[in-house]
Amino acid sequence: MFIFKTVKSIQNHLNKKQTRQKKIGFVPTMGALHEGHLSLLKQSLKENDLTVVSIFVNPTQFGDPEDLEKYPKPIESDIEKLEKYGCDLLFLPETKEVYPHNRVKKEINLRGLDKTMEGAHRPNHFAGVVGVVDRLLEIVQPDRLYMGQKDYQQFAIIKQFLRRTKSKTELIRIPIVREADGLAMSSRNIRLSDAGRKKAVIISQTLYQAREDSKTMTLTEVKQKALSHLKSNGMDVDYFEIADGDNLQSITTSEQSDTVIICTTVRIDGIRLLDNIIIKESH
Ligand code: AMP
Repeated sequence: MFIFKTVKSIQNHLNKKQTRQKKIGFVPTMGALHEGHLSLLKQSLKENDLTVVSIFVNPTQFGDPEDLEKYPKPIESDIEKLEKYGCDLLFLPETKEVYPHNRVKKEINLRGLDKTMEGAHRPNHFAGVVGVVDRLLEIVQPDRLYMGQKDYQQFAIIKQFLRRTKSKTELIRIPIVREADGLAMSSRNIRLSDAGRKKAVIISQTLYQAREDSKTMTLTEVKQKALSHLKSNGMDVDYFEIADGDNLQSITTSEQSDTVIICTTVRIDGIRLLDNIIIKESH
């Protein structure tokens, strides 16, 4: 695996004639890699001639300096995992490479998709996410971009952004990879206490139950039941929303929506744990 730390060095490599003829898959991450990230990598390896993974803990998407400070950075073991799975190229830039001083910041209108759910709790978070993905795409210029359903709102926002900017990059969504008990894998899970880790199973259980309930109850009833279940189990719920999968607006009936998603974020031990489940999807 090649490791590049500067924009110039990775672009020199990618712009070689023999490389440009290849299909390039790209997996942007913030590191502390787990099976969730690696399933994106595996899919990209299957579908492309060359796969680029980036590891960059993007400061512009963190509102809370403590969260940024505490973000795990096990770079040696990340490199080992990427080597083991057969990643071709790792981009490991420093902040000054991603955000050079002379770079003009684009104003990107996210049309309200960034204001609901996560966005309501993390102002400017999605502007930071879109900014970094835009910059990384400019550097790597992949044919395909791989993102996880785990961060569904992020996926929906990037999907809209790529459509509006008429990007040639195709966006691929990869299902959520879970621990054996159902907890969605996340780099933040290692910060949970033993008791917190045990309690965290309730999040996915509630989502699975909500999906079942949606077959017989109204969405308003589903939401009320799930919320009272989470609260009666002592959960600190940031939000629990049933939303249209494209415009991310809260809905009370699924009839008008091609995709319906239930998204929640719960705090355990002060750590925000995101999870979601798709309850309707027409292809
Ligand atoms: P992150 O390092 O948290 O920015 O995540 C990098 C990519 O991996 C994003 O597209 C995430 O949605 C995806 N991802 C993170 N956790 C999971 C998971 N448990 N299952 C599938 N994809 C995931």
